[in-house]
Amino acid sequence: GLPPYDPQNIFARILRGEIPCKRAHETTHSLAFHDINPLAPVHVLVIPKGAYVSSADFGATATPDEITDFWRAVAATAQLLGLEASGYRILANTGVDAGQEVPHFHMHIFGGRALGRMVP
Ligand code: 5GP
Repeated sequence: GLPPYDPQNIFARILRGEIPCKRAHETTHSLAFHDINPLAPVHVLVIPKGAYVSSADFGATATPDEITDFWRAVAATAQLLGLEASGYRILANTGVDAGQEVPHFHMHIFGGRALGRMVP
């Protein structure tokens, strides 16, 4: 698994307002913002405000309120970005083999073009 939560990780700093981001959506327990290195015409990250290192940590330890808020936020963000009709992909890299770079749980939303088959 991943090491314990590092409060100096880049998304923690974004949540504290120490680093700017291009916001897409915000809820009580989540923030959505555009990826700094977009891999699709629309590439947004949705993160919980709570200190969770990975999707596994979030799923195992977040509160029901946080989990509901998070999934509502993912759907709302895709809708407000205009992706609902054409479709989109969500993805959460989790741990070493997935190449997770930022140790604060984040869901990627990709859209705005035909994305091809998932790899792998
Ligand atoms: P991971 O590989 O951990 O799933 O993805 C991390 C993502 O965070 C990458 O797509 C990367 O471009 C994005 N990212 C890293 N640093 C920043 C940043 O400072 N601001 C924003 N908006 N995105 C970032």
